[in-house]
Amino acid sequence: MTRLIEAGSAADCAHCGERVKFRARERHRQVICNVYVDGRWDRVEHYHEPCYAAAGSPYGDPVD
Ligand SMILES: [Zn+2]
Repeated sequence: MTRLIEAGSAADCAHCGERVKFRARERHRQVICNVYVDGRWDRVEHYHEPCYAAAGSPYGDPVD
């Protein structure tokens, strides 16, 4: 499952390693992924939207 993140937080992109800054007006340009391992929450990964696509959308299509 993937979600768009709230404005004001920041993390490093899991694909390119660059800082991802989350701004409300750019909310469609970044992706946050809740990663589950064996059905249990494991971690959160952040991507720039283009990086997520470049990575092959490993956790499915983003949803609001
Ligand atoms: Zn990136």
